[in-house]
Amino acid sequence: TQSNSPITFTASLHTTVEKLKQSPVKRNEETGVKRKRDAEDSRIPPLRFRKLHLSVSLLSEQTWCEKKVVYGFLKPQIRRKEKQRIELQTGTSIHLARELEVHDVVPINIQTHEDAVAISLINMLHMIPSLESGQCVREFPVFGIVEGVYLKGIIDELSYNQKGELVLKDLKTRKHDSLPGAAQALGHRFQVGLYKLLFDALVRGEVKKEHILEHLKLRASLALGTEVITHAANVRINVVTFGELLDAFLLTLSCSDLPCVDVLQLEYCHQGSSSFIGTVLVQFDESQLRAELRGFLEYWRGLREPKGVDIEEAWKCTLCPYEEICDWRKNISQVPESLHTRKRVNM
Ligand code: SF4
Repeated sequence: TQSNSPITFTASLHTTVEKLKQSPVKRNEETGVKRKRDAEDSRIPPLRFRKLHLSVSLLSEQTWCEKKVVYGFLKPQIRRKEKQRIELQTGTSIHLARELEVHDVVPINIQTHEDAVAISLINMLHMIPSLESGQCVREFPVFGIVEGVYLKGIIDELSYNQKGELVLKDLKTRKHDSLPGAAQALGHRFQVGLYKLLFDALVRGEVKKEHILEHLKLRASLALGTEVITHAANVRINVVTFGELLDAFLLTLSCSDLPCVDVLQLEYCHQGSSSFIGTVLVQFDESQLRAELRGFLEYWRGLREPKGVDIEEAWKCTLCPYEEICDWRKNISQVPESLHTRKRVNM
């Protein structure tokens, strides 16, 4: 049996991030880029929508339709409704139940962005020894710079198979009791590929202190919140500032015996019955993955306008909450009707 290890849940994180989003600094309406910050720091190219980083799940959504991702930012009310609908369909509860099998969830109050990042680092510091000793860990955060952009995500599960290989598993819950179609599977493969890139770079020591501080614009000398310091001490990390924690994290990682990920696996479960649908092994092709990523990043860097779906995939629009307002959809409405007809899609 596995002993439960504490993992934190940052209840006040959302409030903090919302406050930061309401910053009085104006942004360029077309590019979404914050003007003042750009002028202050030209070392790191700015991203659209004032973003300092991109999440792996957002980039995976981009494989389905880039325009849809952009509408999610421009029309947040529609996106919220869609998110609620998807959560109902795809079972956040199954993910949480799995996480609770190996971790306890402890609420921690945070005050700053540094506190929020600190919580992830503490969680990782606590999970590294478990993983080194061959145990399974779930909800393992990963981050780093890929193709010049700070990416972050959370790996569902890391464990070892009978051959001693490190297996990265992502759980997908599905409304239909079947494996996904090709279009949806594409995003899932892309997602686990990015997780591997990030995890491997971390264990190889390729993520540097200055990467984290500069890209996320964090202050190393800032004292962490009281609850964060206490929580760190509970897991035997005695630090006061964010910089001290970051040093402790990078040192632990560089001294760890963690291997790179050997196997990428997608596990599909049926939402209604929680029954197992199947497992898919994903081949990792780094050069192809990076090429796809570079293509997506061109949009975030402001190098091109967002693209909608290819004409052959116009059926996706009939499933899209932005169908009524989408200019891309309007433009492709001129094409033959047969291409608009909804194909049989495994959603
Ligand atoms: Fe993309 Fe079609 Fe939705 Fe427009 S309507 S955002 S092209 S899926």
